[in-house]
Amino acid sequence: MSDGTRGGGRFGRYGGRFVPETLMSCLLDLEREYAAATEDESFRAELAELLRLYSGRPTPLYPAENLSRECGGRARIYLKREDLNHTGAHKINNCLGQVLLARRMGKRRIVAETGAGQHGVATAAVAARFRMDCTIYMGELDMERQRPNVVRMRLLGAEVVPTASGSRTLKDATNDAIRDWVTNVRNTHYIIGSTVGPHPYPTIVRDFQAVIGREAREQILEAEDRLPSVIVACVGGGSNALGIFSAFLGDEDVALIGVEAGGSPDGHAAALCEGTPGVLHGSYSYLMQDDDGQVELAHSIAPGLDYPGVGPEHSFLMDSGRVTYARVPDREALAAFSDLSRLEGIIPALEPCHALAFTRKMLADRTDGDDVVIVNLSGRGDKDIDAVTDLIEDLTE
Ligand SMILES: *Cc1c(COP(=O)(O)O)cnc(C)c1O
Repeated sequence: MSDGTRGGGRFGRYGGRFVPETLMSCLLDLEREYAAATEDESFRAELAELLRLYSGRPTPLYPAENLSRECGGRARIYLKREDLNHTGAHKINNCLGQVLLARRMGKRRIVAETGAGQHGVATAAVAARFRMDCTIYMGELDMERQRPNVVRMRLLGAEVVPTASGSRTLKDATNDAIRDWVTNVRNTHYIIGSTVGPHPYPTIVRDFQAVIGREAREQILEAEDRLPSVIVACVGGGSNALGIFSAFLGDEDVALIGVEAGGSPDGHAAALCEGTPGVLHGSYSYLMQDDDGQVELAHSIAPGLDYPGVGPEHSFLMDSGRVTYARVPDREALAAFSDLSRLEGIIPALEPCHALAFTRKMLADRTDGDDVVIVNLSGRGDKDIDAVTDLIEDLTE
């Protein structure tokens, strides 16, 4: 077992690679190949072309005028429309980058973990596009809860393997995916779905998601001729948030706010706001654990936020004070879900509803009227329709 302190991949005291010996060489190979790829003009050009023609980038930065008015007109709220990406969320940005890395390394098989199924669907899509074999690990319980995404993955040609161990959710599926990778590393690449895991994954995933922030920066300068005062994004593992934050980290006047899932009847999924530092999936970062260091179960109405850990760079950004983290309960996220649908004709995923709900609360306390706020709309809500059906029935009765 490595102690995680050698080599790069540290964000302050967080990150590293706390992994068994057998994984170390896989990670070093990946690190080397990624460094070479970033220097390779043809790699960057091919990725840019795929993002444009396969996923539909650039995504719009949409001025949500009705929502802005409803929030008292104290700010102009813009939505970064990651929901318009192919497969319905920002996940595909990372999957396209990583599948190109896999091909560079001569790998013909892809494995991945998925919780809600969003990362699994994006991974299955890019594997199909590149004619690679694809195995997705998914907790048994999640497979029951997210039926349509299981069907989508299978339609896209992926094998979906149920994880029956532990809590039968994302944390356990991640363990199975890592185990598969170590066993089959000669021909297999592991596409992790967020800015988590051992180095170099948190850096690779952030870099592939950074296209969100680069576009948003250019678009807001075009629309407003100024930078935004605030950027708000939801935080599960942290990839959509780091993707948009990364282009603004150096702009001290731009407030960056990450919003966690902070309250179901059964608990929460707020590793930063409620957790303590520890090691999960090869990385040292804030996580939800009990006094004995046992990892606790996460609970959120938004399946994509339902992870007990968080990426190490977020832990660093919280400690340094550059990013502020908040939590929003299920109830408020649900209200934001129906608000955005009715006000703007956009059905959002439940995950970014946490960022929308926070934004609304934040603006309720404002008295001045010249703010520009960007909310990262990380995905669309088709996948959540069943979960919110009861709510919608309540509203229309
Ligand atoms: C997976 C997912 C998230 C959470 O993951 P991050 O890595 O924190 O971005 C948020 N929103 C949507 C729509 C997702 O599918």
